[in-house]
Amino acid sequence: MYSLQRLSAVRPTVNKAIGTNPKDAAVVIPLRYDTDRNNPEVFWVKRSTKLAFLGGFYAFPGGQLDAHDAEARVEHCEDQERAAMISCAARELFEETGILLARGSETLTVGQRASLLDDLESERMSWSELITHYGLRLDADDFTFVGRWVTPPFAPRRFDTWFFLATCPAKQQPRVTGDSELESGEWISAREAYRKWELSEVLVPPPVLHALKTLAAGLTNDLVERFLSVPEAHRQPTRRIEFRPNYICFPLRTKTLPPATHTNCYLIYTSQEILVIDPGSPYDEEQEALASCVDDLISEGRTVREIVLTHVHPDHIGGVHALNGHLRAKHGGAVAIAAHRRTSESLKGQIHVDHFIEDGAVLELNGEPQIKLRALHTPGHARGHLCFHDERTGALISGDNVVGFGSVLIDPPEGDMRAYLASLKRMRELPNLSVLFGGHGPAVANPYKKIDEYISHRLEREELILAAVREGATTSKEIVARVYFDVSPKAHAMAERAVIAHLEKLEADGLLSRASDDSISATKAND
Ligand SMILES: [Zn+2]
Repeated sequence: MYSLQRLSAVRPTVNKAIGTNPKDAAVVIPLRYDTDRNNPEVFWVKRSTKLAFLGGFYAFPGGQLDAHDAEARVEHCEDQERAAMISCAARELFEETGILLARGSETLTVGQRASLLDDLESERMSWSELITHYGLRLDADDFTFVGRWVTPPFAPRRFDTWFFLATCPAKQQPRVTGDSELESGEWISAREAYRKWELSEVLVPPPVLHALKTLAAGLTNDLVERFLSVPEAHRQPTRRIEFRPNYICFPLRTKTLPPATHTNCYLIYTSQEILVIDPGSPYDEEQEALASCVDDLISEGRTVREIVLTHVHPDHIGGVHALNGHLRAKHGGAVAIAAHRRTSESLKGQIHVDHFIEDGAVLELNGEPQIKLRALHTPGHARGHLCFHDERTGALISGDNVVGFGSVLIDPPEGDMRAYLASLKRMRELPNLSVLFGGHGPAVANPYKKIDEYISHRLEREELILAAVREGATTSKEIVARVYFDVSPKAHAMAERAVIAHLEKLEADGLLSRASDDSISATKAND
């Protein structure tokens, strides 16, 4: 057994760039008792695919701060905020894995610990009552602080998360409890876990990737320093997110559709080349951040091959000229811009597209690893919408057809509901999807389930709209009032666009007809 250096003087600096209040959360990285110092084992968990936030991702036990966490006393900790976060970390660890990391717990039997967990979960006792009642003591020396990470502002839920490294007590074995939000959990060497990420077998969020990489180098004396050596571990928002190796997701602030605030730019790279997909931000500071990330990749010996556009919308193309201007000024030349012919037509006078990408075309990057992207023309959200499928790893750049956060607007005439559903079905039929990289929000780890949800959501809407027409609604406004009654009036204009898209599809399907005064009626009963 070894003891980890205790770090007592880390004071995270307040960062104004964090933006809207992320929720406090704590995570424990559980280390195996008596683990090999050169190749340490951690207990990692797979998050349920049902979860809205990072469903299907691998992570460590943890969760949001509870208002009562601060009531539990934590020894050897003067800082109240930190004590509350340690209490939160210990409670979450107990709830999710059954590990009770408290002094005095060594005298409890497995059965007693199970009954304590039941007391907590059934709310017979609060966490602090339970600690006191059973004579347990939380001790800050058992929880080594290894960083505080803030979720990037592109996510539906954002957390300001304290990470603690902790050694599991000798006689306790973690197991994922049945009704938790986790699918499974296992001991794995950090090196092996990192390797799984390298092989594109798992998806992990940035702080978890950093932890695995740091621990893979062994439990050295400078371990804590290495954990804290990146600015992201001190609440600097993460810009460059590598959910999968060689696929950088770089969220950029754009004027996009609320509730989303950012559009993802993707930088796909090999040892020699970089493909930039959708540099969409019109803002200088965002363009500069992207350019500096591209510069880093160039400085390692790569060249930018092309800028590729998934579709025509302003939040996906807003930074194309700026990036090319930067490449011209700093690296001796602009690069070609590639998109679908339809996108090029719509962009006439705005952006000159040099290279048309047709359905089925393969973009192959030079260098290692082998990256071949097959283009799929998937109209519906926009006429010239393209998705890109990496057939080797199962990654799909899904553009705005399926997103990790927010909703997809089908706005005619650029939008076409019939084409959109056909595109979703086509995406659904791809043989080996393992992850979706959408235009907004985090990567989606359960592609088929997500696409199914999208399809059934649209079909349910369609049913409701058809029913509204059968019940006598004759205009899109009347339909909005009946079908979107639960939506704030502010969103009605947008809802009407979606209704119009559905009506066009229903008309094309032969289920509705339009009179000369434009009023709508059902053509036949559907039973
Ligand atoms: Zn779009």
